[in-house]
Amino acid sequence: MGDEWRVGRRGLMQASLAAAMAGCSTRDSSFEPAPALAPIRARTDRIFDIAVCLRPFRPAGPRVETERLGDVLVVHNYGHGGSGWSLSWGSSTRAVQLAMQASPAEVAVVGCGALGLTSAILAQRAGARVTIYARDQLPETTSARATGEWTPDSRIALVNAAAPGFAAVWEEMARTSFKRHRDYLGLPGTPVEWIDQYAVSGDTPRTAQSAEASSRTATEPAPEFASYARSIRDLTPQWRKVPADATPFKATSVARGEVMVFNIADYGHTLMNDFFIAGGQFRRADFRSPAQIAALGKRVVINCTGYGARALWKDESLVPVRGQIARLIPQPEVRYGLVYRHIMTVPRRDGMVVQSFTGGERQGYGDANEVPDRAEAEQAVRTLAELFVQSA
Ligand SMILES: Cc1cc2nc3c(=O)[nH]c(=O)nc-3n(C[C@H](O)[C@H](O)[C@H](O)COP(=O)(O)OP(=O)(O)OC[C@H]3O[C@@H](n4cnc5c(N)ncnc54)[C@H](O)[C@@H]3O)c2cc1C
Repeated sequence: MGDEWRVGRRGLMQASLAAAMAGCSTRDSSFEPAPALAPIRARTDRIFDIAVCLRPFRPAGPRVETERLGDVLVVHNYGHGGSGWSLSWGSSTRAVQLAMQASPAEVAVVGCGALGLTSAILAQRAGARVTIYARDQLPETTSARATGEWTPDSRIALVNAAAPGFAAVWEEMARTSFKRHRDYLGLPGTPVEWIDQYAVSGDTPRTAQSAEASSRTATEPAPEFASYARSIRDLTPQWRKVPADATPFKATSVARGEVMVFNIADYGHTLMNDFFIAGGQFRRADFRSPAQIAALGKRVVINCTGYGARALWKDESLVPVRGQIARLIPQPEVRYGLVYRHIMTVPRRDGMVVQSFTGGERQGYGDANEVPDRAEAEQAVRTLAELFVQSA
């Protein structure tokens, strides 16, 4: 159980919190004092945004490989499930290496999400002139609706379908990405930062426990997602216990980890600026077929169309995994995240993200419905409110 404890949010979501706490105490019995923590104003009338998007999941793992379209070399770089931001730099490094083997002076990138932008910037750094073609710029993409945490093996492949050797490829991508994200720490706008995250266990009401348990068993047998985080456990600190009475939480036990957060609005803005400052061009385009991409007249194209690749490249192995985040009005004084029962919060600068995982990792698997569910968001905020003796 100690192992789950070290792998962070994903492990926390999988393990029962109480069991995880037990693992924590056997590994390290020393308490660390908690800094003064401002309470979260967990009120449903403070929800100002609910966003839904589809994680572009491939059971075999992301597609990073070449394909020929006549004279055009296409390098695919899509299908990163719940890890697209986390793995972006590492995956795009591989894609750009494949693209630059042909030493092109110009590169076209299709897609302007996390994968498209990082591919475009890396191709510029490799010496190419780059044009991004996309239906949507970053603020309108799936990438803009992500939670914004370092979660490099979240819904990245299935155990029984991952390509041979994928674990090693994944590790290389994760390590490369981790280094590149570090370059964005301490910049104006705080595109990337480290925060404390608290895993909190309280006296869950019996009715809520049984409701959560039944929602977990009601769905089909779970797809078994691959887990690779153990191979990079040296990158992030261990979780440690914190005295519950030194926190503002109505809790029976508390532990603290430190996690890397992507402030999506600032990060996206910074990446777009970096791309344009380096001479990048953007053209709005909605491709209906690969032939239209071949007709662009570019010899090398990096395809970063995310879930859009299902229709455009007829890749039916792409599975939508629906996810929803709600945002509460930001509280600058709250610089910590929480995991409590099936709720997670991330104190992003552009809003306090509140996300519900009642169904665990399988939640939303195969579900392409992008309609926001306000009731789910409100329930998550009400659950969060239980933690604060007095809601501010
Ligand atoms: C609720 C939720 C939370 C998440 N949280 C995290 C997290 O905390 N950390 C993390 O690392 N990942 C997270 N993810 C996953 C992450 O958001 C995705 O893996 C990532 O956004 C995929 O990026 P992308 O660039 O491949 O695709 P997208 O962001 O979807 O970009 C695709 C681009 O291609 C363009 N395009 C598509 N089709 C066409 C076409 N036919 N013609 C022209 N242009 C086209 C689009 O317009 C867009 O510009 C989360 C996902 C969800 C749903």
